[in-house]
Amino acid sequence: MDKILTIALSKGRIFEETLPLLAHAGITPIDDPEKSRKLILDTNQSDVKLLIIRASDVPTYVAHGAAQIGVAGKDVLLEQGGKDLYEPVDLHIAECKLMVAATDEAKLAKKRLRVATKYVKTARRYFAAKGKQVDVIKLYGSMELAPLVGLADCIVDVVDTGNTLKANGLSPLEHIADISSRLIVNKAAMKTQCERIKEFISQIEHAVSTR
Ligand code: AMP
Repeated sequence: MDKILTIALSKGRIFEETLPLLAHAGITPIDDPEKSRKLILDTNQSDVKLLIIRASDVPTYVAHGAAQIGVAGKDVLLEQGGKDLYEPVDLHIAECKLMVAATDEAKLAKKRLRVATKYVKTARRYFAAKGKQVDVIKLYGSMELAPLVGLADCIVDVVDTGNTLKANGLSPLEHIADISSRLIVNKAAMKTQCERIKEFISQIEHAVSTR
C-alpha cells in the first residue's frame, strides 16, 4: 500500500485557483469545501487527501509533517519564515502586493511611525532595513480602519486592485514585496517520499508553465 500524500491548502481563492493545477496532476477532490464541512477531503486518488485549513496554518502543518505538501501565500511564508520547508514552485496564483498604505505621504514622515498590521515580523524587518523607528500594532483584520481612527499612521497589508484602500481614503505608498502562492514541501517527506513528491512537483510545474 502506497503512503498517503496529504496536501494542505485554504478555502476560497487559493483552493479555486489550485484546482486546475491539481487536475493537471490527475487529482480531483471528491467533496466541495464550500459545501462540505469536512476538513479532510478525499480525492479520486485513494492515496491523496486534501486538508482544508486556515491560510496562516498551512506552513505549520507542512513544517510538522502533518501534510507533506501545501499551498501558501508568500505573505504568510515571509511572516512565518525559517520553518522546515522547501518552496519549489511559484504557482503564480492569488497574486498581489504587500504595501505600506496611508492617507497621504506626509503620514510616513514622522520620526517614529505607528504601523498597524497582521504582518508584524515582516513590517518590523522592512522598516528596520530602512533604519526607520516603528511601533507595530498587531491586528487580525480590517487594517484599513486603523489610520482612520488614529490607531496608526499607516498600515502594512496585501493589496490587489487597491479598491479596499481607495474606499477608505488610503493610498498604497511603498512596495514591500510581490506576493503569490507557492507550493511548499516538508523537507523530511522530500527524502522519504522522494519519487512521488518529485513527480507531483514536475506535474504542477508543467501545469503552471502551460497555463
Ligand atoms: P483589493 O482588491 O486591493 O481591494 O483587495 C481586497 C482585499 O482582499 C484586501 O483587503 C486584501 O487584504 C485582500 N487580498 C487581496 N489579494 C489577496 C491575496 N492574494 N491574498 C490574500 N488577501 C488578499
